[in-house]
Amino acid sequence: MVAANAAVGYNTQKTRMQEEKIPQMKLFKKKDLFLLGALLLVAAGIALFYLLRPAGARAIVTINGAESQEIDLSKDGIYQIEGAALPVTLEVREGKIRFINSQCPDHLCEGFGYLDSEGEYAICMPAGVAVTISE
Ligand SMILES: [Zn+2]
Repeated sequence: MVAANAAVGYNTQKTRMQEEKIPQMKLFKKKDLFLLGALLLVAAGIALFYLLRPAGARAIVTINGAESQEIDLSKDGIYQIEGAALPVTLEVREGKIRFINSQCPDHLCEGFGYLDSEGEYAICMPAGVAVTISE
């Protein structure tokens, strides 16, 4: 009888401990969900920031390494670059810029395609014209 009572007492205690643990675990899960939600909000904010950022971006055009002009990438347009060894044309479209209709023999500059991220660049070696995206 004594042994059986002890066993029952032990079981009761164990059950109570489990009951105490469950709400605690639920609290932790809620906290995790909250943290996850907060992280998602931050990630969404960063993604929005990067999506909207091209509106303020500029392209710096250099001729033979010297800064020639700045182009605002928020305005679509065609830019003839004056003063280069060869006539070079740049096209701005939807916050991106690229070489088009180049008169150079290799057309490698056109192969760079659109640039839209800070630090990206394209260069036309025969004309000596380089384009870099800046903030
Ligand atoms: Zn070229």
